[in-house]
Amino acid sequence: MSLNQPVSVVFLRQLMRPAFPAVVLMTFLAIATGLIIGLDSQENTQIEQTLAQESESLVRHLEQDFLNHVLALRRMAHRLEMHPETPFEVWQQDARNYLEDFKTFQAIERIDPDLVIRWVEPLEGNEAALGFNSGFNAERRDALQQALQQGSLSVSGVISLAQGGPGLVVYAPIGAGEANNGFIAGVFRMEQLSEDLIRPGIRQNFSLELIEANEIAYSLPATYPTQTRFSHTTEMHLPSIEWALRVRPTTEWVERYRSAWPWVTFISMVSLGVLASLTILLAQLIFKRNRALLRTQQELEEEIDQRVAIQQDLARLESTDSLTGLANRRFFMEDLQHTLSQADRQMRQVALIMMDLDRFQMLNDSLGHHVGDALLVQVARRLDLLSDEGIMVGYSGGDEFMICQQHVESIDDVIHLLGQIKACFKEPFPVEGESHQITATMGVAVYPQSGLDADTLLRNADVALYRAKEQGRNTYQFYTEGMQEREVRRLELDKDLSEALARNQFELYYQPQLDLTTGHTTSVEALIRWNHPERGLVLPGDFIPLAEENGRIREIGRWVIRAACQQLQQWQGTPLSTLGIAINLSGQELAEPDLPDYLSQCFAEFGVAPGQLEIELTEESFIANIEHNHTQLQRISDLGVKLALDDFGVGYSSLGYLRDFTVDLIKIDRSFITYVTRKYDDSVITRAVINLAHNLGIRVVAEGVETEEQLQFLRQHQCDLIQGYLISRPVPAAELPALLEEGLLPVYQ
Ligand code: C2E
Ligand code: CA
Ligand code: CA
Repeated sequence: MSLNQPVSVVFLRQLMRPAFPAVVLMTFLAIATGLIIGLDSQENTQIEQTLAQESESLVRHLEQDFLNHVLALRRMAHRLEMHPETPFEVWQQDARNYLEDFKTFQAIERIDPDLVIRWVEPLEGNEAALGFNSGFNAERRDALQQALQQGSLSVSGVISLAQGGPGLVVYAPIGAGEANNGFIAGVFRMEQLSEDLIRPGIRQNFSLELIEANEIAYSLPATYPTQTRFSHTTEMHLPSIEWALRVRPTTEWVERYRSAWPWVTFISMVSLGVLASLTILLAQLIFKRNRALLRTQQELEEEIDQRVAIQQDLARLESTDSLTGLANRRFFMEDLQHTLSQADRQMRQVALIMMDLDRFQMLNDSLGHHVGDALLVQVARRLDLLSDEGIMVGYSGGDEFMICQQHVESIDDVIHLLGQIKACFKEPFPVEGESHQITATMGVAVYPQSGLDADTLLRNADVALYRAKEQGRNTYQFYTEGMQEREVRRLELDKDLSEALARNQFELYYQPQLDLTTGHTTSVEALIRWNHPERGLVLPGDFIPLAEENGRIREIGRWVIRAACQQLQQWQGTPLSTLGIAINLSGQELAEPDLPDYLSQCFAEFGVAPGQLEIELTEESFIANIEHNHTQLQRISDLGVKLALDDFGVGYSSLGYLRDFTVDLIKIDRSFITYVTRKYDDSVITRAVINLAHNLGIRVVAEGVETEEQLQFLRQHQCDLIQGYLISRPVPAAELPALLEEGLLPVYQ
């Protein structure tokens, strides 16, 4: 127990000891015992006092009675002294009167001076006394002689009477000294004496003992049993004899003076003690239980806290992407929703930026997923440095990131942030000893102008991103009303598109593909154009997606196939008769079950060799077809038609597909070729694609070749074919013969 504990704590600890109830019980027991002893002794004193009173009063009464008898004897003796000649008959009459008045006398005797008993009244029953010498022993004789001389009274004490039985004789002298004429004696038989003198009822309550010279001279037992505890001895004041009376009460008498109170008090006290200790025990139990409960409650609270923490951890895990550690799409959108409702109240603007890594998928495929993942993690880490309480960065999946700027005062704030994001890509990303230069394209939608809810905002940011990608990568684009206008225009186009086929407004332009090994053009790519009556020449980018959306692409596709076959037929017998035509088919067209039939129909109708037609498919439709309906591609391939994989590298493909289905050509997307001589990654990818294709026996076309350097690079790395403005733009069919005739490359001339 430490000293600085508060007194109350120490006290409480003592109260809580297991021995405490026992101590309380013992204390109560001690008090009860003390009380009962005290009360008992008080009662005993009371009893003793009462006994003494009873005893005194009894003795005083006895003394009085006895003295009355003695006085009577003295009166008789006095009369004989006055009249010494009193005859026996007179004396006898006198004695009879006395016997009548004092019933206690058994006999009255006249004794001569020589101590011999001369007269006895009544004679009957006392005959033995007549002539008996009262000085029957020396002690008696001396006592009587002394009384005779002094004229004083003599009492015999309890003696055996000449008449038989214990008795008492009182001698009253008749005259003293020389003039003495004997005694008048009163004989008391003890039984009679006690019977007469002792008041009725006394013996019911007490036993009596007559003590003479410290010995019991005569004892009178009580009617009921006595006890030994109490007794009282009172000196008797009697002439010429020293007696004392010892009184013992009966048990019943003692009990009469006893009250139940000491016991009642004792039992009450003990009960109180038991009650108190039980109460304390109960209190202790309750207290302990409370403490245990409290402890349990604390433990429970701790567990709850832990659970809450775990739940928070879980929620954090659920809300974060496991790879990048950024907020996942779901959480980001929830947060955006929340941010928007706050912004609504506070009347402020919010910017949502959708960001897409340029050509990430290609990097991923050519360098491996682990490199791709490492890059994503690094990008996430750099972006996350921008996040603070006003900026949230999320990962949407694939190579898409989302950034929310919660407080936008003016558009400059967003542009500043866009600059910061762009700066994140300034430094190359080192992975496994190589540094990779990555760029990103972004679309921005600002609340409330560009959408009032999170979904609309996201969709419009996506639209803006899409536009930004169209413009070329590594840039950003704000969602604008103009984009909406474009949507309106698209709708108008959509309407016009339905009539374009009927009105024969489509035309195929052709762009040559140059074989780098021979220096000749062996095939051309057919690219559709729409001669719009009001808008002039509309490029496929403006209406093909639309046609894909509304399903009109299928009719357009059939028209392209027909037109291409017709063109091949027209070239028959001209210098262009060996030229092949590559047409672009969208995924929807490829999915048409009767496509192979339609193709063979056209071949038959126009007398065209299937080997002269090449079909370009994007990776997306290629993969979708392999995954869902392998037989379609196979059937087309079986016709003898060549298959080319278009825009290779931008889609979501995995190069692994090429093992499952072999194509004839791969067309590396223009975006790789544009920086092939300036960017490490692009050159790596391009080289990897060429190598891979060659390993699989596939020829490679490089699209969008615009410069001599690109050409040099591609030639150096054994690219098979090139296509691009460096060779020729797409031209109408009519311009082709002249174009091919004059030769396409200065280097080959
Ligand atoms: P694509 O199949 O990748 O076609 C190549 C596109 O790159 C053409 O655009 C072409 O004009 C352009 N191009 C060629 N060389 C260069 C160059 O050196 N520099 C630059 N900057 N561009 C070059 P176009 O004709 O606007 O076609 C766009 C896309 O529309 C095509 O991309 C193709 O996917 C689609 N398309 C064209 N014709 C058809 C068609 O008949 N049917 C279908 N379904 N899609 C078509
Ligand atoms: Ca193409
Ligand atoms: Ca292409």
